[in-house]
Amino acid sequence: MSSSTSDRRLSELWNCVTLDEASSLINSTSSPFSLQNFVGGQYIAPHDSLTSSSQHITSFEPKTGRPIYTLPCTQPHAVEAAIKAAKAAFPSWSKTARAERSAILWKVSELLQQNREVFAIWESIDQGKTLDRARVEVDRAISNFSYFSTFILHEQTAARMVDGVALTYEHRSPAGVFALISPWNMPLYLLTWKIAPCLAFGCTAVAKPSEVTSMTAFLLGDIFQKAGVPPGVINIIFGDGATTGAALVASPLINGVSFTGGTQTGIAIRRLTAHQIGKHLSLELGGKNPTLVFADSMVPSVRERTIRVAAMAAFENQGEICLCGSRIYVEKSVYNDFVRDFTAYVREKYVLKQTVGAVASLQHCDKIRGYLELAAEQKATFHLGGAPPTLNEDEAQGYWIEPTILTDVAKNSAIQIDEIFGPVVTITPFDNEQEAIQLANDSEYGLAAILLTTDGARMRRVGEQLEAGLVWVNCWLVRELGTPFGGMKNSGTGREGGEHSRDVFTVVRTLHLPAY
Ligand code: NAD
Repeated sequence: MSSSTSDRRLSELWNCVTLDEASSLINSTSSPFSLQNFVGGQYIAPHDSLTSSSQHITSFEPKTGRPIYTLPCTQPHAVEAAIKAAKAAFPSWSKTARAERSAILWKVSELLQQNREVFAIWESIDQGKTLDRARVEVDRAISNFSYFSTFILHEQTAARMVDGVALTYEHRSPAGVFALISPWNMPLYLLTWKIAPCLAFGCTAVAKPSEVTSMTAFLLGDIFQKAGVPPGVINIIFGDGATTGAALVASPLINGVSFTGGTQTGIAIRRLTAHQIGKHLSLELGGKNPTLVFADSMVPSVRERTIRVAAMAAFENQGEICLCGSRIYVEKSVYNDFVRDFTAYVREKYVLKQTVGAVASLQHCDKIRGYLELAAEQKATFHLGGAPPTLNEDEAQGYWIEPTILTDVAKNSAIQIDEIFGPVVTITPFDNEQEAIQLANDSEYGLAAILLTTDGARMRRVGEQLEAGLVWVNCWLVRELGTPFGGMKNSGTGREGGEHSRDVFTVVRTLHLPAY
């Protein structure tokens, strides 16, 4: 893929079509790659985004701990320049015919498809996830664009009659310039979950990926150029939260913020924008999700599915998915059987077959290890994990945590309360349905819940009482992109997906027309 950037190294990134090639490229360079902001339709030299040459952040490869690239910690003056580019592009883009916007976004999805493997390789290297997991997420990024590019071709609006007096109808227009901010756990997937609807509904944006995982966002700029997205419609800037993210969300030129990340950052963003009442805020935050295992789900005919779903919900992407079920509650009569079978399955599927990647950063790894030390101090039982895993020589400096299964963890232990966001689960017995619901809801969070039962009445009876924005019954992570996505309690506010994303990125006015 060609690039207008003067940095020939961008094309070197595109030329890597296997993990080994990408790895050799990193090893062969004497200095790490230097990522550049994408503003006004082109990559710009890092020094234009900074006020001193020391304002770079180094990003490390989780599997090996080696430095892979640096990114600018974009300073407020350069954040403002990016916002102004988005603002300048808004009048034209917001009036561009839906069919034209749709065609451009469809082209983006095609280009992502054509470069699927390159994106997957760099995502796996940058985030620590397995290549298979990265491929799944690139596929989802492709669907984000194809879904919203076609969604806007079939929009409807509501009209109401006031008998003999008036016809009213809802008219929507793009809400303006958005700040789109994403975390490090599913970098491309989550950033495109914001960019695709934002652009589809006619808004322009400044997007900022996590400073921990910026590589695939950097490659995206090239895709947008190639797809013919007009300059300034989407700008991608790099940097940390305190400097770059805060300047972005607080700017009075920003009409809305779509944010995915931790609850404490969500609170900080609310504070930063508290005086800007009309600013649209969509906050997708943390979770500490329960998995409820009822005895009927452990009968021989469905036992394998129960174990598989509970394990996938616990350990997919190293447990670094906001929707992971990290608190498992099991009906007492099948508790011992579940612990035994679940442990055996996780050992076989995730440990021996090495289908768990490294966690995203050294800082995060240290945080998780802190919880494991606490578990040992509190005399929890380790059924799996607890010891450093066996590593290849080149992985010894990496951020590896073995899947960990704990029992005998007190209800009020930080291990049960805090979002650990890693490959660590607790298993706790319950006596009856009411206790299961009470334990599941005993959390400041309310993002997701997993319900494992074969009793049809219970699916509704329990499912409808769970304090969670998403409840999965005998399955997990199944998504249709129109379903409202979001959490209750401290897991966030607002919903995204299909028409719910339209609510985020548009403003509604109601017109009243007299009947005569
Ligand atoms: P984080 O909140 O530390 O950072 C997320 C993003 O916010 C990053 O880009 C960061 O630079 C930026 N940021 C930080 N401070 C900011 C500020 N003051 N103003 C503006 N931007 C700021 O989260 P993280 O550690 O990257 O990600 C992990 C968290 O994300 C977990 O809590 C996880 O549950 C959550 N998450 C939620 C969802 C969801 O859909 N609800 C999905 C994925 C991850």
